[in-house]
Amino acid sequence: MATRFVATNECDADIAFKNAYVQCKKEDIGIITSPVGLPGRAIMNGFLNEAKNGERHPKSCPFHCITTCKKEISPYCISAALINACKGKLENGFAFIGANGYKVNKIVSVKELFETLSMEYRQCE
Ligand code: SF4
Repeated sequence: MATRFVATNECDADIAFKNAYVQCKKEDIGIITSPVGLPGRAIMNGFLNEAKNGERHPKSCPFHCITTCKKEISPYCISAALINACKGKLENGFAFIGANGYKVNKIVSVKELFETLSMEYRQCE
């Protein structure tokens, strides 16, 4: 459900982050293993491919936020990657997304989104 609210005018993520959702195709979505060992669904991009190939390493550990994350062996700093992505710097980050996120095809207001959700709900009754 949270995925639908990313592509709204009110979401405070950078427009590039929102557009990554709008432009995402079904085949762009993959399952990654985060540096803390948990799987997550994400829009695959150059950053994640580089991380997968061992070409990314954390330059520092700015927040010491996760006890199970060790800078020395982590493929990247997930905190920095998510902050970069939110700021629109997707060359140094990535976006998590829901399984049906590829269906998001435009940025709308939250009001419009609720109207759409309400209509979709009624269609399921
Ligand atoms: S995610 Fe980044 S800031 Fe957090 S513990 Fe790992 S390297 Fe440090």
